[in-house]
Amino acid sequence: HAKELGRNNYQFFSTEMNDYLYERLQIEQDLRQALERNEFLLFYQPQIEVETNKIIGFEALLRWLHPTKGLLGPLTFIDVAESTGLIITIGEWVLNQACLQTHKWQQRFGGQWRVSVNLSAMQFNQQLLLEQVGHCLNASRLPASSLELEITETAMLTDVMETIPLLNALKEMGVGLAIDDFGTGYSSLSYLKNFPINTLKIDKTFVDEIVGNPKDAAIARTIVQLADNLGLRTIAEGVESVEQVNMLTTMGCKELQGYYYSKPLPASEIERLLVNAYGMQNH
Ligand code: C2E
Ligand code: MG
Ligand code: MG
Ligand code: MG
Repeated sequence: HAKELGRNNYQFFSTEMNDYLYERLQIEQDLRQALERNEFLLFYQPQIEVETNKIIGFEALLRWLHPTKGLLGPLTFIDVAESTGLIITIGEWVLNQACLQTHKWQQRFGGQWRVSVNLSAMQFNQQLLLEQVGHCLNASRLPASSLELEITETAMLTDVMETIPLLNALKEMGVGLAIDDFGTGYSSLSYLKNFPINTLKIDKTFVDEIVGNPKDAAIARTIVQLADNLGLRTIAEGVESVEQVNMLTTMGCKELQGYYYSKPLPASEIERLLVNAYGMQNH
């Protein structure tokens, strides 16, 4: 049968297309029920301050415990969530969950950790976002300064006229703003002047070969200097080796995140980590 299909390229292609479309449709249907069935969870990846070697925050990363497919990462379903609009309610759940959890850890262990939450372009283009953020800060009682929103350059630049007032309103609330995957999108340096941003997040693709490739090293170094000159923080993502840690530190990057320190972990495992580091607290 396979041989037969192989001879007929058109049919082979069309079978693959059908599989692909069917798969997406399946994901869409399952995604519609995932929230009410409580199938989403957040993993948290520690962010390390180089100077103290301590955890200063966590990036919240969405996971889906699918009933038959098992644990899924966001790359397998985020695009479907975006194209169907489901990302709006899923994103609201993420915000709430991340703020609630981080406030609990702050209370229990007495640290001032920050939580970074990823936003898709679609969430970002809505006035609704302000209400969602305001509500989730109130409900969780997390200080606004402990919340940082991660947005890609591309998302930020889809509608600049809308973006600036929205960013300003978020800044007024005290929420931090980071540009995720910095340097990989439609980069325009002028928006760094006009947008109230706090943090540039150096993309993993520059970190990957920072040790062996002088061009990647030059780009990373330039991002750190640019941020310094503009009074912004930098954090590098995807740090996997001690050599990368050393290079980034020498460049002046003060915050690092990656498998070298920790993979993204379920809340229960982060808690174990915090208990070991800070001991049991009674409040
Ligand atoms: P991102 O925001 O750039 O997140 C970093 C990704 O790199 C995460 O993948 C993380 O697990 C992975 N990572 C971190 N350190 C290392 C490392 O040292 N080595 C390697 N190989 N990978 C590392 P993940 O969790 O699969 O998330 C992928 C993307 O999905 C994220 O990229 C983000 O754009 C998006 N995403 C995740 N959670 C959410 C969410 O709640 N809402 C939205 N809209 N997007 C999300
Ligand atoms: Mg991110
Ligand atoms: Mg990133
Ligand atoms: Mg990335």
